[in-house]
Amino acid sequence: MDHLAAAPYIVIGAGMHGLSTAYHLAVALRERSLGSGQDIVVLEKSEPGAGATGIACGVVRNNYFQPAMSELMQACVEVWESDPAAYHYNPVGYVAVGPKAQEADLVSVHERHERIGYRSEIVVGEAEVDAHMKALFPDWRAKGVTVCLHEHQGGFAFNLESVRGLVGKCEQEGVRLLGEVEVTGFEDRPDGSIAAVETSRGRVAVGEQVVVAPGPWAQRFWSLLGLPDRIDVTTPTGEVVSDQPMWRYWNLQEGEIQVDPGFFATADGGAPPVIHVDTDAPLYTDDGRLVTDELWGNYFKRDRHGVQGGAAPIPVDGDVELDPYPSTTDVDPGFPDMWCASLSHALKRFEGCRALYKDARSGGVGSFTADNFPIFDYLRPNLYAILDSNHGYKMIGVGKEVANVVLGEHSSLLFPFRYERFATGDLHPVSNSPYPWS
Ligand SMILES: Cc1cc2nc3c(=O)[nH]c(=O)nc-3n(C[C@H](O)[C@H](O)[C@H](O)COP(=O)(O)OP(=O)(O)OC[C@H]3O[C@@H](n4cnc5c(N)ncnc54)[C@H](O)[C@@H]3O)c2cc1C
Repeated sequence: MDHLAAAPYIVIGAGMHGLSTAYHLAVALRERSLGSGQDIVVLEKSEPGAGATGIACGVVRNNYFQPAMSELMQACVEVWESDPAAYHYNPVGYVAVGPKAQEADLVSVHERHERIGYRSEIVVGEAEVDAHMKALFPDWRAKGVTVCLHEHQGGFAFNLESVRGLVGKCEQEGVRLLGEVEVTGFEDRPDGSIAAVETSRGRVAVGEQVVVAPGPWAQRFWSLLGLPDRIDVTTPTGEVVSDQPMWRYWNLQEGEIQVDPGFFATADGGAPPVIHVDTDAPLYTDDGRLVTDELWGNYFKRDRHGVQGGAAPIPVDGDVELDPYPSTTDVDPGFPDMWCASLSHALKRFEGCRALYKDARSGGVGSFTADNFPIFDYLRPNLYAILDSNHGYKMIGVGKEVANVVLGEHSSLLFPFRYERFATGDLHPVSNSPYPWS
């Protein structure tokens, strides 16, 4: 990399956000005759897709209770839909079914979908939900679910294939992607702006701006920028909750059963939507052992080699080892039993599927902010950070918004995610979902 002493725009991290930012910035520079992709360099310590993006389940949905998340997701789905072939996007839709406690939340999500023009359908009532799901899957049998949000947009994409699609688009625009270059620090100017990025292969002077998109390595960059490990959080009612950890980690538990993908199809033989079940009905294994009688949830989708998905994540206590990534430490050993039981609870066809569970490394660590929502903001006068709090494979459109911000525009979609919200109390509303990302 000796030849690279400087670059106008430096993007750190070649995951979903870094690649999407680099590509959209290149397009914006070209279209506005301000430059080209050759003005952008992406620095990646390993290779594109080496972080969370490369292992994401790939679900794309807009089941967000928070207005700002929902509006942002609308813009992201538009990007997915703009080139499904390159992004390996499967627009099969998404179905969330939930218990009584989630009715009001899902109804309000659907009302917002109607307002913003996102195509979804809401079904309320135990018998009505059962009928809706049986029309899709005649062997549907989940209990305790009284509300169903059926998104007719969204679906899923194949993780590494979509990375390759973005890499191809970056290369076509002339963006330079440099792998095996680790960013180790920043050289500050007296006004706090970044003069240069220090890397394992030398110093790169910053011409214009830096965009940091480090995925689960967010905390490392947070400390490199001298930001606090713990913060005071002001709630919307003005109460101050002091000394909260800025970053927390959760282990996302995911797995797969190996079946012919055609085994999981809709009644008419079509591709099934991604399914998400939350219920408080007791969960039993197929041989009658009680797994839990508390609220539980799962999600699953048809994959290339079977059915893949996960369940609620578990918090990680203590230090987290992110290299090599993923780290699946402390995953509940009972996860395969639980997840397979949950598939069978939902659809009779999955009865006995525990024997088909693929014993492989799956899932990984996600890093979450103090309120579990992203920070999209300038952290220095010329350094923009995309710290997505593990929401973000689906957020392919964030990079497009960031590109506009870097070129001096305001983004009303990104504004609600500024760091300042923790001090001002402009926090996002919290839903009744057991997941930290809904
Ligand atoms: C198991 C799992 C399943 C998930 N499923 C979904 C899902 O279904 N849908 C969804 O929307 N989201 C999902 N997520 C969340 C999603 O994967 C992440 O939010 C998203 O991929 C983050 O993208 P990113 O570009 O910010 O980070 P990453 O993809 O992690 O990219 C960051 C990159 O930065 C590089 N890097 C880090 N430090 C340095 C450094 N010092 N110098 C240079 N490069 C560096 C890393 O090598 C990495 O390639 C899932 C996450 C996990 C863990």
